[in-house]
Amino acid sequence: MKKTNASFAQRWNETFQSAYGTPSIALVRGKGVDVYDVEGNRYLDFLGGIATNVLGHAHPKIVKAVSRQIGILSHTSNFYSHPQVVELAEKLKAMTGQATARTFFCNSGAEANEAAIKLSRLTGRHRIVAAHGAFHGRTMGALSLTGQPAKREPFKPLLKKISHVPYGDVKKLARAVNKKTAMVILEPIMGEAGVIVPDDNYLKSAREICDKHGALLVLDAVQTGMGRTGTWFGYEDSGITPDVITIAKGLGGGLPIGAMIALGRAAELITPGSHGSTFGGNPISCAAGNATIDEIESKKYMKTNRQFGLQIMSALRQIPGISDVRGKGLLIGFDFSKPIAKKIASELQNRGVLVNAASETTIRIAPAFVITQKNVDEFLRACREVVANHG
Ligand SMILES: *Cc1c(COP(=O)(O)O)cnc(C)c1O
Repeated sequence: MKKTNASFAQRWNETFQSAYGTPSIALVRGKGVDVYDVEGNRYLDFLGGIATNVLGHAHPKIVKAVSRQIGILSHTSNFYSHPQVVELAEKLKAMTGQATARTFFCNSGAEANEAAIKLSRLTGRHRIVAAHGAFHGRTMGALSLTGQPAKREPFKPLLKKISHVPYGDVKKLARAVNKKTAMVILEPIMGEAGVIVPDDNYLKSAREICDKHGALLVLDAVQTGMGRTGTWFGYEDSGITPDVITIAKGLGGGLPIGAMIALGRAAELITPGSHGSTFGGNPISCAAGNATIDEIESKKYMKTNRQFGLQIMSALRQIPGISDVRGKGLLIGFDFSKPIAKKIASELQNRGVLVNAASETTIRIAPAFVITQKNVDEFLRACREVVANHG
């Protein structure tokens, strides 16, 4: 049988559960921000594997680090130390700027948040406050934090004593937190919800509220982290220090790895036997993580991410038909006043540009940091043309 996008869709349908819609294209290779489907069509990838491939596809530094590592040591378990995992933990510590930072490695964003939930229980408290609309993952604990009814309802009962408050509303947050609150978890920018950027002082207020009641402040930087929004974890512009940071997505430059970083007194809560992960911190993912961080630093991508972000957002604001544009660095969402986002995303794909419809009215982009001015121009041209057809 000839290999086509349609033939892969058919094979998918005959073998996959329906967790995802059937993908209309099958990608076979990529280079930088370009990916190619099985029929040889080229796409400009402005979704970046949902904010994971921060250095684009097949980046030579990651290819080299991973190939080298698999040839010398592929897995050890956490009964043993190895250079890649220690180096990555040291890098993460330096990135927080906190001498007390201690890391727990896992394999995904949901697992990083699960680890944070368990850590918070060790305070002796068990109430948690999260935000409406927030996304923290799909496993039962992380889903209990996730503030999206459609994702939660079918799986009730979830963890008890978790309340959700409107994101960005300081008063409602202050009312929800008390002496029984173990932790407050917030995304520095809500990604999955459609790139919702809070007021400048929101995280600062959240920090004060948590301090007043002795609750931990956990920042889920799974999507905003790794320099995407212009700082390592996406919260630093607020001037605060959280108690726990969770990251994943971009950390392995496309390989699966997550981390829960605890600071200060929170770093002392986990004790031997409290938690674990067989693959957590495996040498290959850590080698990819180390290469990714080195490259982000040496190419000063956090600076260019901010610049490209401002440029893309101001250009999107000029396009008639786009009703709102939000974001920071290379995490950007834009809205339509009509429910056409899914149609626009699919037309952009037909025109060779990959984006994500976060909802019926919002498109989200999270391109690799290696984008060039030419890529940005191509993306904006495609948006102008496709959106104009819906005027
Ligand atoms: C994607 C995401 C998660 C879940 O990560 P997985 O690796 O899919 O488990 C958690 N929090 C945020 C903010 C995310 O964007």
